[in-house]
Amino acid sequence: ATPTSIMVGTGRAAELGILFRKGEALQSLRDADVVALDKTGTLTKGRPELTDLVAAEGFEADEVLFLVASLETLSEHPIAEAIVSAAKSKGIATAAVNGFEATPGFGVSGLVSGRQVLVGADRALATNGIDVSGFSTEAERLGASGKSPLYAAIDGRLAAIIAVSDPVKETTPQAIRSLHELGLKVAMITGDNRRTAEAIARKLGIDEVVAEVLPEGKVEAIRKLRQGGRSVAFIGDGINDAPALAEADVGIAVGTGTDIAIESADVVLMSGDLNGVAKAIALSKATILNIK
Ligand code: ADP
Ligand code: MG
Repeated sequence: ATPTSIMVGTGRAAELGILFRKGEALQSLRDADVVALDKTGTLTKGRPELTDLVAAEGFEADEVLFLVASLETLSEHPIAEAIVSAAKSKGIATAAVNGFEATPGFGVSGLVSGRQVLVGADRALATNGIDVSGFSTEAERLGASGKSPLYAAIDGRLAAIIAVSDPVKETTPQAIRSLHELGLKVAMITGDNRRTAEAIARKLGIDEVVAEVLPEGKVEAIRKLRQGGRSVAFIGDGINDAPALAEADVGIAVGTGTDIAIESADVVLMSGDLNGVAKAIALSKATILNIK
């Protein structure tokens, strides 16, 4: 494309709320074969709610919620907010935490009211030698309905399975249909549970799922999607997404996301509406056509 056609294309995009931080991105977008999307905060609202808490034998649900919510007051993860506000709405006050530790992609731990509390993904409990298989039926049921299962352990014993649900943005289904209409493959990359991710993907008609990816594993996920010479556009919002946004052939940040994601991206969608992606791709194709 000529510099003038790029200016016209990016100018038109700006009117649609799509900001091109690099002019070349208009050309690389045209060549994209796969659009990979982060799940939490990109496909979904990023504001999960606690939906289930099933206590294990010998534990009481409200006490588990009290201990877990106390711990989560020190975490900034959206899951933590869901757990803290669930306790609040039940009138459960939180207590102080000692020795708080957060392990990104796994979970959090610390001492609350003299008890050692751990909450996180199944792999976080496995790392601490705690078997969660007693809840496998529950986990399967929750995952199949698109909820994310978490586990709590108290003093080294499995205490509860907890589920959070993060609603899909109203605009997401149409955005995925539009990408398919443009002939693109759509993939999801997430740190969440595989079963949960697959249930959400199936509902949305997403073609490929890369789940249970650790925060530092998103770059590797992009490289995998690129196999066979495919060009990959990646869309994300979080701090964890920044390296993948830089690695992708085109990095697209959701404008409602973190500054680090925006700074690592080639394109920024000013709103959280993913329909901007298909619009940007359609525009990139039209711009190149115009100057032929
Ligand atoms: P995601 O975008 O899927 O939330 P993360 O890498 O942030 O990806 O987290 C991966 C998983 O680790 C979460 O789905 C959750 O199971 C667990 N986890 C991380 N932080 C917390 C926390 N503060 N409380 C409970 N679980 C957590
Ligand atoms: Mg996210």
